[in-house]
Amino acid sequence: MKRHPEIIANADLTALSTFRLPARATELAIIDSIEQLPALPPTEGDELVLGGGSNTVFVADYPGRILLNRIKGLTTEECGNDVLVTAAAGENWHRLVRTCIDRGLHGLENLVMIPGCVGAAPMQNIGAYGAELSERFERLDAWDRSERRMVALEKTDCAFGYRDSLFKSAEPGRYLITSVTLRLSRHFQSRVDYASLSEAIQRTGIDQPTPRQLAAAVMRLRRHRLPDPTRLPNAGSFFKNPVVTKGQAETLLIEHPQLLHWPMPDGMIKLGAGRMIELLGWKGKSVGDAAVYPNHALVLVNRGSATASDLLTLVEAIQSSVEGAYGIRLEPEPRLIKT
Ligand SMILES: Cc1cc2nc3c(=O)[nH]c(=O)nc-3n(C[C@H](O)[C@H](O)[C@H](O)COP(=O)(O)OP(=O)(O)OC[C@H]3O[C@@H](n4cnc5c(N)ncnc54)[C@H](O)[C@@H]3O)c2cc1C
Repeated sequence: MKRHPEIIANADLTALSTFRLPARATELAIIDSIEQLPALPPTEGDELVLGGGSNTVFVADYPGRILLNRIKGLTTEECGNDVLVTAAAGENWHRLVRTCIDRGLHGLENLVMIPGCVGAAPMQNIGAYGAELSERFERLDAWDRSERRMVALEKTDCAFGYRDSLFKSAEPGRYLITSVTLRLSRHFQSRVDYASLSEAIQRTGIDQPTPRQLAAAVMRLRRHRLPDPTRLPNAGSFFKNPVVTKGQAETLLIEHPQLLHWPMPDGMIKLGAGRMIELLGWKGKSVGDAAVYPNHALVLVNRGSATASDLLTLVEAIQSSVEGAYGIRLEPEPRLIKT
C-alpha cells in the first residue's frame, strides 16, 4: 500500500466527469487508502473530492487540488436479522447493489444503476423509484478536513432530506467520506409503490417480483428514460424538482393542470421539473452541442463537443423560460464547478 497518493499536475478532468466538458485542475491526487489522507501535503488553493463525476460538471478549469477517491473494500457483519454492509467510498454504487442482491442482502434493489461511487451517495441522499439511501443508511466514516482526523457519523448526524444532507448543505467540503455502512435485510420485501415501477411490474404479469426481477424492472425503466453517460455524456436529471407549499401548488395547478405533482411527507408538494420544461417545448432544443435530451426533458446532454458556455447558456434559457411561465426558478441538481 502506498503511503502517499499519486499526484498529477495540470490534470485533464474531461474523462472524470460524465458530462465531459473540457477542463483541467492544477493538481489531481488519487487517494486509494485512508492512510494517505493525513500524509497529504497542505495546499494553498481549493480542494474538491471527486468520485465518479456523475453529479459534478466542470464549467471552468479548477484552480486547486482534486482528491479522487479510489478507496476500495467491502465487509459484512451479522446484526440480528440484518446484515451491516460496509463499502469503501471508492466502490462503484451499482456494483455494490448487484453484489448485495447476489449475496441475498436486500433493501437496495430500487437504487440499482445509479451511477457513481459509494462515497458520494450520502451527499444528496440518492434516491430513485420510491426509495432513498437514508432508509438503509446506518453510519459512515469520514476524514474531517477541518480537524484533520477520522470521525464516525451516525444517521441522525447526517441531516438527510430530499436530495440533501449535512454534507451538501450545512458543512459542504468539510468531510471526505471514506466508507458507508448500510443495514440490509436477509428478508426481501419488494417496494413497488412508485407508479411507473408498479406499472412496469404489472406489465410483466408477475405478482410478487423476486429481488432480481425488481432490479431488472428498474434497470429496464432507467435504460428507457436515461441516456447511458458512456455513450451520450450527461449528468442525469439536470434540475431538481422544485418543492412548494400546498397553497402555491394549488394555485399553479388551476392554471396548469398538466403539471406533475407529488405530496411530500412534510405536507409540501414536489413539482415535476421535467414536465415543466417539456410543456414549454424544450425537448430536443440545443445551444451548440449542449442539448435537451429528446426522450426526457429533465436531462441535458453533451452531443460531442459542447463547451461550458453552450451549457450555461442553455441552462439560463431554460431557467428563465420556466420562471416566466410558472414563477419558479429551477436549480441545477449536479454541482457546477465554476472556480
Ligand atoms: C445517467 C444518470 C442517472 C442518475 N440517476 C440518479 C438517480 O436516479 N438518483 C440520484 O439520486 N442521483 C442520480 N444521478 C446523480 C449521481 O449519479 C449521484 O448523485 C451519485 O451519487 C454521484 O456519485 P459520483 O461518485 O459520480 O459523485 P461525484 O460527481 O464525483 O460527486 C458528487 C458530489 O459529492 C462529493 N463527493 C464525492 N465523493 C465524496 C466523498 N467520498 N466524500 C465527500 N464528498 C464526496 C463531490 O465533491 C461532489 O460535490 C444520476 C446521474 C446520471 C449521470
